[in-house]
Amino acid sequence: MSTPSGIFTIRGLMGCCHLLVDAHGDAVLLDTGLVGEPWLIRWRLRRLGLRADAIKAILLTHGHLDHTGNLAWAKAWTGAPVYAHPLEQAHINGSFPYTGVSRWCGRLERMGRAVLRVGSAVPIDRFLNDGDELPLWGGLRVVHLPGHTSGHCGFYSARHDLLFSGDLFASYFFNVHLPPAILNSAPALMASSLEKARRLNARFLVPQHYDVLDAELHRKRFDALLAKRDRLTSSPSRC
Ligand SMILES: [Zn+2]
Ligand SMILES: [Zn+2]
Repeated sequence: MSTPSGIFTIRGLMGCCHLLVDAHGDAVLLDTGLVGEPWLIRWRLRRLGLRADAIKAILLTHGHLDHTGNLAWAKAWTGAPVYAHPLEQAHINGSFPYTGVSRWCGRLERMGRAVLRVGSAVPIDRFLNDGDELPLWGGLRVVHLPGHTSGHCGFYSARHDLLFSGDLFASYFFNVHLPPAILNSAPALMASSLEKARRLNARFLVPQHYDVLDAELHRKRFDALLAKRDRLTSSPSRC
């Protein structure tokens, strides 16, 4: 398995969030998970010999509930600023006006919020824009990858040649896939974001939904997924 060091998976019910820790003991919380993650985050940090205030930033790939369910807790616990694309505020608040088939996503989110009692809206403190260089984890560049949501972002570490790709795709042994249509609120932008990630050509990929933390394997699976997609879109229709 091949993955740069300093990445710690917090595995939740629906997907993963990550603690990124640099050589100085400064940490970034990349997404906050849905339910149950707070004690896992606390446990992991303790194992690393770090305290809550070691977390200097809460970085969000996007505002879906499985990535922001514990956001209010994380912000109160760490005191760290929340970084996200401005278009994600409505998702974080649970007020995004879903249309078309993605209305199902809105229904699921509303249900999840009611069951899990996710209440108060948490304001974004620092707005992200494509190309921003963040002084976190040795340098992370914001890569705007809209499609899944309008403000969906990945984060590229030049030091490790690694892209945290958010929900651009999910990487499981039997099932490497793009997010289902009902979960995508800007589907027209998906193809260009996939191309943008392909052109970036990072050696390592780490999505937020996967089976094992192996960044080289996720890159290979992403390539295979795009190659299959290329074949499907280029093959002539047969009568
Ligand atoms: Zn999502
Ligand atoms: Zn997700």
